[in-house]
Amino acid sequence: MKKAIVWFRRDLRLSDNPALRHAVDEFEQVLLVYVHAPQEEGDWSPGAASCWWLHHSLAALDKKIRKRNSRLIIRTGASRDALLELTGQFNADAVLWNRLYDPATIKRDKQVKKALADAGLTTRSFAANLLFEPWTISTKDDNPYKVYTPFWKACMKEPAPAGPEASVRALRAPGKFPASESLDALELLPVINWDDGLEAAWTPGEDGAGARLDRFLEHAIDVYATSRDYPAQAGVSRLSPHLHFGEISPRQVWHAVKGMSAAREAQGAKTFLKEIGWREFAHHVLYHFPKTPDQPLYEKYAAFPWRKRHGKLLKAWQKGQTGFPIVDAGMRQLWATGWMHNRVRMIVASLLVKNLRIPWQKGAKWFWDTLVDADLANNTLGWQWSAGCGADAAPYFRIFNPVTQSQKFDGDGKYLRKWVPELAALPDKWIHEPWNAPREVCEAAGFTIGADYPAPVVDMKESRADALAALKAIKDS
Ligand code: FAD
Repeated sequence: MKKAIVWFRRDLRLSDNPALRHAVDEFEQVLLVYVHAPQEEGDWSPGAASCWWLHHSLAALDKKIRKRNSRLIIRTGASRDALLELTGQFNADAVLWNRLYDPATIKRDKQVKKALADAGLTTRSFAANLLFEPWTISTKDDNPYKVYTPFWKACMKEPAPAGPEASVRALRAPGKFPASESLDALELLPVINWDDGLEAAWTPGEDGAGARLDRFLEHAIDVYATSRDYPAQAGVSRLSPHLHFGEISPRQVWHAVKGMSAAREAQGAKTFLKEIGWREFAHHVLYHFPKTPDQPLYEKYAAFPWRKRHGKLLKAWQKGQTGFPIVDAGMRQLWATGWMHNRVRMIVASLLVKNLRIPWQKGAKWFWDTLVDADLANNTLGWQWSAGCGADAAPYFRIFNPVTQSQKFDGDGKYLRKWVPELAALPDKWIHEPWNAPREVCEAAGFTIGADYPAPVVDMKESRADALAALKAIKDS
């Protein structure tokens, strides 16, 4: 009897799962396995919010699997040892998995593959988590792209991504299951109860992902091109954590959008698919430049004069106490829900790296711990973009002004009032810059700057000039 193990990683779904599909098509018994080995992800083992998500996503996957009369076997320890032990206990012929592209995982997977092959097992990996494999897209000179637009154009010249594979129904469960650790034993949930906001905001798992996509296609995609920049509107998909954990595949998203009626495939859908393209770009860049999570893609930017003693400023930023309402709203949304709107991510990142001159790596680490969608490729690209040192980065002279950004994208202060309620009584005109509000306005609102809400932690004008001078010097060097 031919037996296979399917090794689940960040592909926590039963539909459009090529490794699983192949296993049930080609083998008579299939064992479904998750090995929890955060130590193998180097400096980037999942942060607290990701652990919360992972717990619920694994629970949802196991529930789905049990409905199909099988079980998810959970193990801990080194992946190689856990898989070797299971292949022995299950008498497996093969181990199958879907590929991932971050440097630590690639290294680990190579070692696992070798160890399994040395033990006489067949191994096979599948493309499942991107639309285009990173080694298939390159410039005319056979180099990786460092700029998004030509990259995406090159992708669009490739054959369209294959249609997603149907959900697997019969899982070909073994007659007898090897022992499994309990999900609770992984201790992924926080010891202190800070996760109520996450619980209220999200439904981790494949069904939650599908529902999120359906809702977005029904209500928001048509106006995505315009509403995606307004943090108070439900204008974006919020699919990012689902995509990160592979509860839905980019191919499923792609084909669901392409499957809409031609009349609806207007600007909104096109713009949305371009964002999925940014996800592709980020993963390709990380694959080709594996040092970028810690080091700037353009090395000369390592010379930026970061502020040496920045502990207090970093804390103020992390806690949403900078005195810039749009920044504080974003940081508090992040803390409460594990997610922040993209427009606001750009604003808070710009303040941290350019005005406060705190290394982008510190911001990336905070996001890593607090985002439910923390993703090494997307986070690295986002931070290097903001710092001006990465692929297709913002030009060095682009320093977001948190007041004008706030006025433009949250004019009526709805987002600010939700996340910074101490400003709620201020009129729209002053809510974006409360330190400038005239005394009589503050008195009428019962608001005192410095007491009810902090004064800005940095002078915008001066800090902007300092950053521009430093960045220009580097650029010209
Ligand atoms: P939508 O607007 O609905 O977009 C759909 C999908 O496209 C997203 O789910 C995401 O997978 C992809 N996407 C959209 N924008 C980008 C982008 N700029 N770069 C890469 N992929 C994108 N995204 C993460 O998934 N994880 C991160 O850790 C992360 N860190 C970021 C850090 C900074 C400093 C910045 C500026 C951006 C970061 N992003 C990150 C990108 C972006 O902010 C999020 O993908 C987006 O806000 C997720 O919300 P959504 O699913 O509603 O996006």
